[in-house]
Amino acid sequence: MKILVINCGSSSLKYQLIDSETEKAIAVGLCERIGIDGRLVHTKAGAEKLTFEKPLPDHEAAVQAVLAALTDPAHGVIGSLSGIGAVGHRVVHGGERFTSSVMIDDEVIEAIRGCNDLAPLHNPANLIGIDACRKLMPGVPMVAVFDTAFHQTMPKKAYTYALPYEYYDKYKIRRYGFHGTSHSYVSRRAAELAGLDYGNSKIIVCHLGNGASISAVLNGKSVDTSMGLTPLEGLVMGTRSGDIDPAIIEFIAKKEGKSLGEIMNLLNKKSGVYGLSGVSSDFRDLEAAAGQGDERAKDATEVFVYRTAKYVGAYAAAMNGVDAVVFTAGLGENDKKIRARVCSYLGYLGVKIDEERNNVRGVEAVISSDASRVKVLAVPTNEELAIARDTVALVRK
Ligand code: AMP
Repeated sequence: MKILVINCGSSSLKYQLIDSETEKAIAVGLCERIGIDGRLVHTKAGAEKLTFEKPLPDHEAAVQAVLAALTDPAHGVIGSLSGIGAVGHRVVHGGERFTSSVMIDDEVIEAIRGCNDLAPLHNPANLIGIDACRKLMPGVPMVAVFDTAFHQTMPKKAYTYALPYEYYDKYKIRRYGFHGTSHSYVSRRAAELAGLDYGNSKIIVCHLGNGASISAVLNGKSVDTSMGLTPLEGLVMGTRSGDIDPAIIEFIAKKEGKSLGEIMNLLNKKSGVYGLSGVSSDFRDLEAAAGQGDERAKDATEVFVYRTAKYVGAYAAAMNGVDAVVFTAGLGENDKKIRARVCSYLGYLGVKIDEERNNVRGVEAVISSDASRVKVLAVPTNEELAIARDTVALVRK
């Protein structure tokens, strides 16, 4: 079966058509600048990337352009729309309602809308994508896969904030966590690669990309994760601050005369390694600058590494031990120096990196030495494949 995986943002739409038998993407692409002017970048597996400047006034036009590209006689990969067996949609926030992926119907759509307050930038965009696909592909089964669902197994002690309890009762303010599809896929794959029994294992997943989060996966279930009510909490990220003393918000507001909205924008878009370095949110730029003696760029990466290592320690404590530490996403998959620097803090756990094994980029690998008490791995994440797998499983049910 061929599964169309859709990840819809407010002005962009990413897609992959995945063959569920081979588990390979047969076409991937991206619609950008939706509602502005419009561009579609489409790549058929094994062929050159094609860019079409195309008016994309809304998401329906974008989905229409994707379907036209997939069925195009020259660049397409399927003869007609009947070649699409089902659509899997990434949905950012499923609140407490969605603990796993679900078939989409009118009631599910209303329930996703009910979570809009929790992810006001993302959920409405996800719903627009679902709506456009349902209009253009009537009768094709659709599945929603939630970023938050994997973390719904967290115990109350891990998801509760020490705020007046009424705010949980009234507004469901609690830790939800994100990147769940990635943490689930990567932890399961790491167990296979490390020869661990997933149902009886202690795995810490470090998802280190522009957005970064870390999770404690005990016996195949998420028991804690660093992102919270929103993706702002936890690790230092490309442009997000991660954990700070909340009193800083009032302090800056008073000193700089900034509004709450301005400060939230500053914490989400102008902080992290970008704000610290003043150079870039991209670690390749930071490492280049640090190599030329830029002290702020050096410090920024060390703050990032140190925070990550502290969370590994916290999650080893939460699980009373750890069998495997796994690195994934842009940095975790590609940057051997960052992996080694995080692990340099983990000697007390018996972590030993093998330099030669760690000398890899973008591939699955065990990078710890045979003498290491904890397995360390690099595992490229594949959220689209995880979405396609869930979609097939639900459609076949
Ligand atoms: P992501 O959000 O998962 O795409 O990750 C983005 C981050 O990964 C950026 O900070 C990039 O600098 C980093 N990254 C991506 N590719 C590489 C690479 N080949 N080497 C080092 N860092 C990389």
